[in-house]
Amino acid sequence: MEYISGIIEKKHIDYTDFANNVDKVVSIHGIIHRVREMTGFNFVILRTKREEVQCIYSPDFSNFEWDENYFEQQAVVVTGKVVADETREGRYELQIHDVEVVSSPAEEMPITINKKQLNVEMDTNLTLRPISLRNPKERAIFKIQEGIARGFKEFLLKENFTEIRTPKIVFAGAEGGANVFKLDYFGKEVCLTQSPQFYKQTMVGVFERVFEVGPVFRAEHHNTSRHLNEYISMDFEMGFIDSFHDIMNMETAALKYIMNMLETEYAIEIEILKAKLPKIDTIPVIKFSDAKELIQTKYKKVITDFMDFEPEEEQLLCKYAEKEFGSEFIFVTHYPSAKRPFYAMDDANEPDTTLSFDLLFRGVEITTGGQRVHDYAAQVKKMEERGMNVEEFDSYLMAHKYGLPPHGGLGLGLERLVTKLLGFPNIRSGSLFPRDLTRVTP
Ligand code: ATP
Ligand code: MG
Repeated sequence: MEYISGIIEKKHIDYTDFANNVDKVVSIHGIIHRVREMTGFNFVILRTKREEVQCIYSPDFSNFEWDENYFEQQAVVVTGKVVADETREGRYELQIHDVEVVSSPAEEMPITINKKQLNVEMDTNLTLRPISLRNPKERAIFKIQEGIARGFKEFLLKENFTEIRTPKIVFAGAEGGANVFKLDYFGKEVCLTQSPQFYKQTMVGVFERVFEVGPVFRAEHHNTSRHLNEYISMDFEMGFIDSFHDIMNMETAALKYIMNMLETEYAIEIEILKAKLPKIDTIPVIKFSDAKELIQTKYKKVITDFMDFEPEEEQLLCKYAEKEFGSEFIFVTHYPSAKRPFYAMDDANEPDTTLSFDLLFRGVEITTGGQRVHDYAAQVKKMEERGMNVEEFDSYLMAHKYGLPPHGGLGLGLERLVTKLLGFPNIRSGSLFPRDLTRVTP
């Protein structure tokens, strides 16, 4: 009988092991990313898990002839001697002794991926995503994306939140609006979830503090630079709050933790992308109505929408926060009740506004959050006032009926955050395989 014992054998070393192997002969594997022919020798740049590794072919120390059998995009194992890179302090390179070709591509790539910048139109980039992502800058975006989600998770676990995974197929009445994706579920109409809202509130009754990082689906009928039809929502919900300020504080602390994590653990990608991380000290807070007034008086903009912000208004608010308070973030609170969902708690002092907020960053909304209605009777009343069929929400309202602490939470769009953080104009840049009006492949 054969048995698997779970012993992981490290076949080749990583670039990070180079420092401990100077002057030793080692093997490393990777893809030949670029070959630069110099006089008398070649630079062979290997694309490895995270680093580009400089190897040098030279008849002086290589045991073979570099010829047409060796070319870019081949998967190889390179054996050679580790030496310090004399031109780049703190870096190491490999003097090639031997190269074993493990796999060769069938065809040459239709685009050049080994230049610093991928010089193609967005459309080409997305159509050729499986290979355009191999460009070091492109893939660095998704390492940063990893870092953001990782920071969010680590921070919340430290704050005693429980990670949950909720269903993405939900009953059709659960969420309204024009932007639901409907699907046939054994003859019954159901839809893809637009947010984990109901389930995370339910889970407050179970764990008090919960979070989820997962996909949500929105049938956005327009092509914009800030909307996808599927995106990753970073959500949390917490009980025993005094007010929605507890939520804003938790988010601010999470963002500080994330930025710190990126700075320390993702320096390689920050450097590749020349990313400018925001400094977060305190984040200014402004009421929705005051923000509207400010836009009108300070920036002389005629307000036409009194219920929500236009994209230009979000930009102006961020400009204001940056100029007046040196913050690239600003919280806007007390959005009109009419524009917020039925579960948003109204402000007792100004009942046509809600105890809710948005967080704007570098010109766009990245988060919506707030306090929720926790009292059963109050929630039923609000739903009835909105003409909703309360019975349809029985399973959701079970949480309220049998008791929920005061609670609130938020949803933060991962692609929006990564895109703004890295200064890209289009959210598609921050999505691995974006889903938009025309794109379901690759
Ligand atoms: P917007 O007004 O910008 O369309 P929204 O207010 O409808 O967004 P929410 O329901 O508040 O969005 O979702 C919470 C967060 O999820 C947003 O702040 C944003 O970061 C992100 N988000 C919402 N819709 C999308 C989308 N279609 N694509 C990518 N991210 C989105
Ligand atoms: Mg919103």
